[in-house]
Parts: sequence; C-alpha cells; structure tokens
Amino acid sequence: MIVIFLGPPGAGKGTQAAHIVKTYGIPQLSTGDMLRAAVKAQTPVGKQAKAVMDAGNLVSDDIVAAIVEERIEQQDCEPGFLLDGFPRTVAQAEMLDAMLTKKGRSIDAVIELKVDEDVLLERLRYRIAETRARGEPPRKDDNEETFKYRLQVYKDQTAPLIPYYENQSKLKALDGMGTVEAVSAAIDGILGEGRG
Ligand code: AMP
Repeated sequence: MIVIFLGPPGAGKGTQAAHIVKTYGIPQLSTGDMLRAAVKAQTPVGKQAKAVMDAGNLVSDDIVAAIVEERIEQQDCEPGFLLDGFPRTVAQAEMLDAMLTKKGRSIDAVIELKVDEDVLLERLRYRIAETRARGEPPRKDDNEETFKYRLQVYKDQTAPLIPYYENQSKLKALDGMGTVEAVSAAIDGILGEGRG
C-alpha cells in the first residue's frame, strides 16, 4: 500500500503516520526527518539543505526526489510505504509518478489533512512551549515568523497538488481538527482496514 500524506505544517501528519505504521506495517518516509538527519550528519546534501530549511524554503526537487528514490528501493518498502512531506511540489509529484511507473507500482491514496490556520498556529505555540518545558531548544524553523512563511510556501507550492491528485481520483480529504483518535479512525475508513 502506497499512501501520501498531504497537509500544511502542523496538520498532524507525523502523529497520524505513527498510527499508519502501527496498523498497516508500512514504514513512514518523512523527507523532513531524512533531511534533518543529513544536516546533523553534515553530509554534502545536509550542508546544502541547512540554510534553505532554516529559512522555511523548499530544498530542490532533484535533491529530495533522489533521496526518496533511493529510500523506496530498500527492502522494507516492498509491502508499501507512507510518504510524509513528499511530494511538496507538482514537479516532485511528476517525478514520483515516473519513479513508481518505472517500478510497476502506483499510489493507492493521497490523504489530505485539512486544518484551519488559527488551529495550526495554536498547535505551533503549544509545541514550542512543550519543547521548552523539556529543556530542549525548538526546531530552527519552529517559530511564528518562519511558520507563517512555511504556510505561505505550502499554499503557493504544495496546495496545487490537491487538484493534481483530484484529477487522478486519488485524493481523500479529511477533517484534521478532530481528536487524534477520530482522525485515525477516519484514515482507517479510507484505507479500508479499520480495526474498530
Ligand atoms: P517537514 O519536517 O516535512 O516540515 O520539513 C522540514 C523542511 O524540510 C521543509 O520546510 C523543507 O525545507 C524541507 N523539506 C522536507 N520535505 C521536502 C520536500 N519534499 N521538498 C522540499 N523540501 C522539503
């Protein structure tokens, strides 16, 4: 099963990814996590990506697509995988379609988590306070100014994926503002393997 999560930053993609991993036994492929790991390890990709990420901009399509292509060739992706944070542009979606076609595979569902902007900002403030309470520094791109910029980047560059996947009859939009459990249950409804 190949599933894509679509939604603005803070929509709950990471939280719901944990549910999908547990319920369906497929790995979560978060390009944000992969890029942060590359930055930490100071790989050539990481060095290139750091400033772009800190500013809330998108890393180049070619770099991200190459990371994903390499990852989905690994054995644990054979039963399928969940893409979280990729594709982020129409160009990336086209690259993904080409990659999957080459491998004789296809996307099963694109789940869009819809969350109002004021709720996203509330969640951000909560996340920052929680991180501080743990005595950890917040992520460089987790501040209100960069967050609002990332939301704009989402609207400009990622939201065009909504009609893109609608045209492929793959898009399933969900209210992402319910409880974690309610959203998980709605996801199970879509993926057809609800477990009560
Ligand atoms: P995320 O954890 O998904 O919010 O991603 C954090 C940051 O990593 C983003 O703001 C981008 O700078 C970068 N990033 C993650 N995924 C992608 C992608 N598919 N395309 C371009 N940049 C990405």
